[in-house]
Amino acid sequence: MGKLEQQIVEQQIVDKAKSSGDTFITVNPRFSSQQCQNCGQIAKENRESQAIFNCVKCRHENHADINAGQVVLVQELSVLASTLYLGHAGQKPVLAQVHLKCSENF
Ligand SMILES: [Zn+2]
Repeated sequence: MGKLEQQIVEQQIVDKAKSSGDTFITVNPRFSSQQCQNCGQIAKENRESQAIFNCVKCRHENHADINAGQVVLVQELSVLASTLYLGHAGQKPVLAQVHLKCSENF
């Protein structure tokens, strides 16, 4: 997909989300394929192969695509949580800590 086509698709998704009242969140996927979902360690060496993720710090293992998807999901949830104001009006937003535990049954 070319850059123009990607921009058109993204704009269509944003328009659809707005018209249906959904929230649209963008995150930077940089290093998501090298970052450990469990401990946050970023290292090229975490990628044992194209398919296998094996963290050099905490030894967390998973399919590389599933690990990357979970890293992006946590970023999305963090962005969403940062938009929520918990407490009284005028207070700073409280960021929720999101911890995901992956199922071994993927
Ligand atoms: Zn780790």
